[in-house]
Amino acid sequence: MSIKTFQDLIKEVHEKGICQECGGCTSFCSAAFENVIGFKKPNSPPEYINKDACLECGICYYLCPQTNILDDELNKTYHFTDYSSMPYGFAEDVYSCQTTDEEFLKYGTDGGVVNTLLNYLLEKRIIDGAIVSKAEGPFSRKSMFAETRNDLIKSSGIILNISPHVDEVQRFSTYTRSIPQLSHYKFKKLAIVGTPCQIYTIRCMQNLGVTPSEHIEICLGLFCYHNFLFEKSQIEKFEKEFKIKFKDIKKINIKEDLILKIQGSNSKEKIIHIPFNKLINYIRPACKSCTDFTNIYSDISFGGLGSPDKYTTVIPRTEKGIELFQNALDKNVIKNLRLDKNSKETMQNLISKFSELKIERRKEFMKNLK
Ligand SMILES: Cc1cc2nc3c(=O)[nH]c(=O)nc-3n(C[C@H](O)[C@H](O)[C@H](O)COP(=O)(O)OP(=O)(O)OC[C@H]3O[C@@H](n4cnc5c(N)ncnc54)[C@H](O)[C@@H]3O)c2cc1C
Ligand code: SF4
Ligand code: SF4
Ligand code: SF4
Repeated sequence: MSIKTFQDLIKEVHEKGICQECGGCTSFCSAAFENVIGFKKPNSPPEYINKDACLECGICYYLCPQTNILDDELNKTYHFTDYSSMPYGFAEDVYSCQTTDEEFLKYGTDGGVVNTLLNYLLEKRIIDGAIVSKAEGPFSRKSMFAETRNDLIKSSGIILNISPHVDEVQRFSTYTRSIPQLSHYKFKKLAIVGTPCQIYTIRCMQNLGVTPSEHIEICLGLFCYHNFLFEKSQIEKFEKEFKIKFKDIKKINIKEDLILKIQGSNSKEKIIHIPFNKLINYIRPACKSCTDFTNIYSDISFGGLGSPDKYTTVIPRTEKGIELFQNALDKNVIKNLRLDKNSKETMQNLISKFSELKIERRKEFMKNLK
């Protein structure tokens, strides 16, 4: 059997419109070889830079979340059997937590737990830095390397003093291409925060033992039902449809629906909820082909779904993840909301429901693919 290469990814993934732009293929290839493939345009799949330089090693094909070659191996490592028996993956338990740090809470997306744990890892020198993402404007984020508490505050959920240059940007997306950043931080111990497609590709790299995954100490995974993508023309449509000015969006959160914090004309802030079914035209197309909602291969997963306002839903999964979570609780770096049996069950059912909905959505989407 011949080895499948990037050329096959173009045919089987890009041309079908299901490239998740996770950056796994480019991240490995550019760390191992020079200038073979890379992202040339924003919000588009990677391309050949120099096709003649491709060694046809086939690793990029193995790392792609749309080829699913290594699923069986990852499932064994991360104790996952199937979605019908474990809709949100292997979990030690499900918690609702909040940081005890006022600043991380103030600027956090939900309970500020992710950045608090990263800060704890930095303080304890377990990591040298973390690959995270900071807001550049509404529906627009950029990857960044955080080495200090201050960097983490800058990367928190809220949009801090940003004047969005809507006119200068052709396409807005909530998706951040963070994985290709990995190769810039060789010789450092890293944590990475990522969506399920990003963590999947990192786990594939680790499974194959290929660079640059050896630097990653811990993977903090975010829940992800979908990301949004706005062509310039859609911004106007969105503004008209929902009577919102892009420039007035101060904060974005995704739980059961899209939650926007808007700066009103009288400088008062208001919260607007937009149901997902009204946003179908703004969802990144490849997200409709994605299955994993809760980031089943991460060390710990985080979301807002199921938790009260200003709390983060936390699912510790691996030995490393459980140890970090327990230490943070023991040292009072984060606190756990004691949920009674009914509330916990409601939360678990809601997470399961969204996991199942995502799987159903993929099934429908793939049926209609050529
Ligand atoms: C694109 C996206 C989609 C999401 N979808 C859902 C959803 O459907 N349901 C749900 O319950 N939760 C979803 N979440 C997770 C949720 O919004 C919160 O990120 C999570 O609950 C953690 O909150 P926190 O206050 O503990 O995190 P914080 O302490 O605020 O830290 C958040 C961390 O995430 C990093 N980050 C933010 N955006 C990105 C990104 N695009 N790529 C990589 N890192 C990033 C930040 O840099 C920061 O380090 C989504 C998050 C993102 C980024
Ligand atoms: S050199 Fe290997 S990893 Fe890079 S594009 Fe070619 S087949 Fe893919
Ligand atoms: S590895 Fe990621 S970026 Fe590369 S083709 Fe697959 S989905 Fe697209
Ligand atoms: S839904 Fe989330 S995890 Fe899936 S492809 Fe989109 S961004 Fe990646």
